[in-house]
Amino acid sequence: MAELPPRNSITLHGMRIDRVTMEGALAYIASFIASGKPHHIVTADASMVMTYREDKDFAALVEQAALITPDGAGIIWASKRLGVPITAKVSGVDLSAKLVELSGKNGWRIFFFGGAPGIAEAAAQKMRERFPDANICGMRDGYYKADEEDTVAEQIAATKPDILLVAMGIPRQEKFIQRQKGRVGAKVYIGVGGTLDVFSGTVKRAPVWMQKSGLEWLYRISSSPNAARMKKLAALPQFARLTLTTQTKK
Ligand code: UDP
Repeated sequence: MAELPPRNSITLHGMRIDRVTMEGALAYIASFIASGKPHHIVTADASMVMTYREDKDFAALVEQAALITPDGAGIIWASKRLGVPITAKVSGVDLSAKLVELSGKNGWRIFFFGGAPGIAEAAAQKMRERFPDANICGMRDGYYKADEEDTVAEQIAATKPDILLVAMGIPRQEKFIQRQKGRVGAKVYIGVGGTLDVFSGTVKRAPVWMQKSGLEWLYRISSSPNAARMKKLAALPQFARLTLTTQTKK
């Protein structure tokens, strides 16, 4: 097997982020699947860094992640500002799309978990149109009672996924992964936020110029301003203030 690229981790406001490219992340994922053991991949955006600083249980589980990718313009901006520059973004939605694209050729079984009822199915249908050999082994929505969680995890396990995409928002998705990775039996677990909404076409991606100028978050918030999004929005000025007031080592 090809050698893995170094993680080149940085610490951003206390939280580790691995300076990997998309190619590097895919190489890690191939090795994680080959190992047969469970691995948690975290896709970190600015709101996650703030959650990390406020929620000790969340911080503890993120510290154990096998890989933490830089997801978002806020992370890139802060890393440059703090003198530990990250140049490549590896977002949950882009990484998930790549995995679906490669799943047929590589024989990786992918499960879509999360979103409102019908979203995971619509996402699978759209991705199968894009990639006819996509190896999607199952899907289900992310709404159930807390006491049903073990049963949900067993139902996912029965489809024998190699990769479980968990699209239930930060930190719910990461906490699910932490609690249930022993039961599900996949090798790669990734919390991917609103990815299935994007795949299904329910939420449109920002125009390319907005993605390129780092404004996708603004587009997402303004196109569906729900309570969770507003909380995320509130975290951004805090993140910016923290970054602007942090002294960099000269
Ligand atoms: N969601 C879910 N179960 C819940 C709450 C939310 O499956 O109990 C889904 C919701 O339908 C949406 C996603 O989680 O598809 C959250 O997307 P968002 O982009 O807000 O996530 P974040 O930016 O926090 O990663």
